[in-house]
Amino acid sequence: MEPSRARTISTRTANMNNRSEKRQGMYQVVMDQFEHAADIMGLDPGVRKILGKTNSEIVVHFPVKLDDGSIEVFTGYRVQHNNALGPYKGGLRYHQTVDLDSARALAIWMTWKTALAGLPYGGGKGGVEINPKLYSAGELERITRRFTYALGDNIGPDLDIPAPDVNTNPQIMAWIADTYSSTKSPATRFINLHVVTGKPLGAGGLEGRDRATGFGVVATLKAWSKRTGKPLAGMRYIVQGFGNVGYWTSHFLAKEGAVLIAVQDASSTIHNVKGIDPEDLYNHVEANNRSIAGYTKAGTMPPSEFFGLPCDIVVPAALGNQITAANAGSIKAHVLAEGANGPTDTEGEAILRQNGVDIIPDILCNSGGVIGSYYEWLQNKRSEIWKIDEVLEMIHDKIDTAFEKVVSTSEEFKVNWRDAAYIVALRRLEKTYKERGIFP
Ligand code: NAD
Repeated sequence: MEPSRARTISTRTANMNNRSEKRQGMYQVVMDQFEHAADIMGLDPGVRKILGKTNSEIVVHFPVKLDDGSIEVFTGYRVQHNNALGPYKGGLRYHQTVDLDSARALAIWMTWKTALAGLPYGGGKGGVEINPKLYSAGELERITRRFTYALGDNIGPDLDIPAPDVNTNPQIMAWIADTYSSTKSPATRFINLHVVTGKPLGAGGLEGRDRATGFGVVATLKAWSKRTGKPLAGMRYIVQGFGNVGYWTSHFLAKEGAVLIAVQDASSTIHNVKGIDPEDLYNHVEANNRSIAGYTKAGTMPPSEFFGLPCDIVVPAALGNQITAANAGSIKAHVLAEGANGPTDTEGEAILRQNGVDIIPDILCNSGGVIGSYYEWLQNKRSEIWKIDEVLEMIHDKIDTAFEKVVSTSEEFKVNWRDAAYIVALRRLEKTYKERGIFP
């Protein structure tokens, strides 16, 4: 079991320079987590002020002609939190919940994640406020290309490098790379393609980037299992979200001998105590508009009962703020592996800790994705092509190193793994600012 330290919401400090800003949802959660860890480690007050703000927040409104000839104006965001360690890095999300607060929160988590993983990156995030299921492939291509054009030189291979997130995929990354590089001088085309990662293989992608996040989630679960002496083989797991992260996590957990017993996505909640074959479910999802609804080899159940199912491992791999005071008390698992970003809110986390559920925090648990992206970027920069086995080995290695740092820091400060992960990340950022100073 991970060490824990009693944590009360009332003890959080109120000395942040943006305390007066209205914070909601995930933004509130990430700032709660940051302030708590900064208090524990005694983060330098100046660095604390810098990291308490985002560097830039870009909002663009752009018109697109739809298939029926009408014009719609879309809103896109790119928030760049901090680039002390390297270019901004983080996904683009296409979802109706995308707004400034959610982009801020997700950008801030990226800064911690890249710092913890030891990557030469900062944190950014963004997306378009849209339900992509309502648009044709041609419309999505035009929306993506026009969004890229609207972002202009606010992104770039050495400035800010987006990647896939919810409802964005390698095809969308290829359109971004093509649009960005086509709007620059032809002489720079091939040094601009790595403006995004998560591209398809033919467009400069990396073998293994597709599975990197789920592979990393399972690497952290293997490290947890080794540490706690609880074997993964035979464990029952449930997964919320069966997209990129949910599917690949299920795939690699099944390889460890664990049994998938329930899945929830935006369309349905399905359950089979005898086990669900992730590959069979994946084939169904591919053939059914990316939905688990209608899968006949498992029964359906009320969505509100999903997290309370008796099981050993819970993997949230969908949206933020899914585990809250309303359902955290029902979770009986040994461990929560946060495949999603920000799936657990502050109150939900306090309940899980009281109940002795181990939490592998998102900034560690799902960091395989950005580590994979880093290798794609490096492969592009070096004009090399790497093999999948070497890529997965390098990702595993970086995750193991980060996990060990989190465990040793949790022992040093006698804190839980989330606080420890923050402290590792914040120490690295603090050191950089102290050594480099502040311009001018
Ligand atoms: P995706 O679009 O491939 O899949 C998202 C899944 O979530 C879908 O199955 C969808 O049906 C489901 N979902 C959406 N709304 C839901 C709801 N209200 N209830 C239940 N399920 C819902 O997205 P993804 O890339 O797999 O990302 C999932 C999570 O993992 C996000 O939080 C993302 O930020 C995080 N993440 C992704 C990566 C990556 O490399 N793709 C890396 C790190 C973290």
